[in-house]
Amino acid sequence: MAEPIAFIDGEYIPANEAKIPILEPTFTKSDVVYDTISSTDDLIFRLDDHLDRFENSCQSMKISPPYDRNEIASILATCIDKTGYRDTCTTLMGTRGPYKDILSRDPRTCQNGLIAVSVPYYYVIPKDKAEQGVNLSIVENKRVPSESVDARVKNFNWMDLTRGLLEAYDKGGDSAILCTPDGKLSEGPGFNIWFSKDGELKTPKGNLLEGITRKTIFELATEMGIKATEIEVYPEDLRNADEAFTSTTAGAVASIIQIDGKPLGNGAPGILTGRINDLYWKKRKDGWHGTPVKSLLN
Ligand code: PLP
Repeated sequence: MAEPIAFIDGEYIPANEAKIPILEPTFTKSDVVYDTISSTDDLIFRLDDHLDRFENSCQSMKISPPYDRNEIASILATCIDKTGYRDTCTTLMGTRGPYKDILSRDPRTCQNGLIAVSVPYYYVIPKDKAEQGVNLSIVENKRVPSESVDARVKNFNWMDLTRGLLEAYDKGGDSAILCTPDGKLSEGPGFNIWFSKDGELKTPKGNLLEGITRKTIFELATEMGIKATEIEVYPEDLRNADEAFTSTTAGAVASIIQIDGKPLGNGAPGILTGRINDLYWKKRKDGWHGTPVKSLLN
């Protein structure tokens, strides 16, 4: 029977049996960095890009997982293999780990760890909603400025994103878009945003996680002969766009058809958005940027 699998304390176990000690700053301080990687048809997508980003996140927080890059790749693949699912999302976590001494609060004394957990492939924005197109709220809650919490470091400090998501639900939205305190568009809880105007694609720049799917959209745009740029953008730019969509590992592309309940463009999933999503999945099926799970098993 297929089931989610975790790697924790050096062992592979059913994910619902994996536990974090409640005294660890991993839990009490959200002192953990992570990355989420997808596999479809037993091919891991953009493994090196994800491992690069994970390493950068670890370095930025001075977390040193007790495994090297090849070992981490092998742990990731083993988790996927053991689940029995062909399509997965796997989260790697670099944890601060337990304090050496119960009386100490010095993070330098902690024994850093690595946790991985593989679950069936999931959609940040539910699949049916993504296909029909979503209504996103541009919320009052602001994204924490990168000067305080570097959004490029993928981390569990989600208070701003979760508050934004709850605010969006209260307003009848399917999810949220957060702005920076100075009013520029940033990103949503678990996705980057894109829009097209007069045939060109634009995505916000700065104060956001530089998504691997976002990088992929830039490559697809080049292949499709569409100009794509990252620029500072404001809510009005998005509201006046022809089409818009979200991008994320967990679900790829979802059409945005309304902002704050008002139609965006013609209020239907965009043609260009559909072409990008189709090309993304076609190329993944053809093995683009794919590493076979089996090639990494020991
Ligand atoms: N922004 C945030 C805050 C995220 O958590 C994520 C993904 O989890 C993304 C953007 C999209 O990044 P990626 O395409 O690497 O999944």
